[in-house]
Amino acid sequence: MSEDDRLISSETQERSDPALRPERLADFIGQGGGRANLETFIMAARDRGDAMDHSLLHGPPGLGKTTLAQIIAAELGVGFRATSGPVIARAGDLAALLTNLRPRDVLFIDEIHRLNPAVEEVLYPAMEDFQLDLIIGEGPSARSVRIDLPPFTLVGATTRAGLLTTPLRDRFGIQMRLQFYDRGELSTILANQANRLGMALSADGADEIAGRARGTPRIAGRLLRRVRDIAAVDGHGEVTAKIADAALSRLEVDTDGLDAMDRRYLACLAENYAGGPVGVETLAAVLAEQRDMLEEVIEPYLLQTGLLMRTQRGRCLSPAGWDHVGLTPPASAVRQLDLLGSKEDVNDVDGVDDD
Ligand code: ADP
Repeated sequence: MSEDDRLISSETQERSDPALRPERLADFIGQGGGRANLETFIMAARDRGDAMDHSLLHGPPGLGKTTLAQIIAAELGVGFRATSGPVIARAGDLAALLTNLRPRDVLFIDEIHRLNPAVEEVLYPAMEDFQLDLIIGEGPSARSVRIDLPPFTLVGATTRAGLLTTPLRDRFGIQMRLQFYDRGELSTILANQANRLGMALSADGADEIAGRARGTPRIAGRLLRRVRDIAAVDGHGEVTAKIADAALSRLEVDTDGLDAMDRRYLACLAENYAGGPVGVETLAAVLAEQRDMLEEVIEPYLLQTGLLMRTQRGRCLSPAGWDHVGLTPPASAVRQLDLLGSKEDVNDVDGVDDD
């Protein structure tokens, strides 16, 4: 199954309902302290009439990085331009983007960890001094020109803060890590979305969907739409917990929010590798998936829920993970888990972890 086919994928962009994106910070639910800090920085920049400091938003897909970037621009009352790391192929592309900005505009670069190193070099002075140093021409006639830029705010988003080069990361004055949302926050987000979709959703219906949305608003929104479809075809008016449960079970999203792909991952770890440890490359090959997809999309939630453990020697199924696949761990896995229990390196692997 490809990532795009997954109902609970947080990767694919559901762009068809832009109205569902909150537009102001007041409508942006959750993210506690980080959100409060951001509000302060926005207000301070707006009151001073300055461009806000460059900001880095990081965390798994679907948690609201793009939404927040748009909100920052809206709250600052400035223009918003969006692009993504891999799209800016050459320094000239970046120059074109930067020279077209108006003072204090927000430039949003998604997947900023995938910027071409040559482009990144040009970005440093642009971020620090609002200057572009470009080489024009080739060979002996080549000359360098310096262009002054209007002050702007770069908002970078990444799912892999650990892959950012240090000089780039250090140039972001504001850094915010987005966390998974709790069930109550997701229920509120779902209630708001149902409202905007003109759909009747009871409080327990919202709670039922929230519990299966893997802590991710994008997944919550997608589940809501599918439940709405099923409920409409079945002739239900209001979506209650019972109706949501029946619909989600039909969609094979279990009560923990895991779908067939997650279960396949856990089952592979249990059945083929006696619970691990096994390297992510091996798992990717056996499951016929991209390593990045496993690391950025599947694993964060399995780690968060404690079904999976990441160790220096590879991925391991936790006791809760064994429970979830409905198998009893063999003696070798129990010994392995005992051993891990006495170590501190679990889920904290140099060079592999997010940050
Ligand atoms: P990311 O850029 O991190 O992948 P997005 O900003 O595209 O995520 O958010 C995905 C969807 O989830 C959007 O449609 C948005 O409406 C919704 N969403 C994300 N965070 C929130 C939030 N805190 N409150 C309400 N809706 C949210």
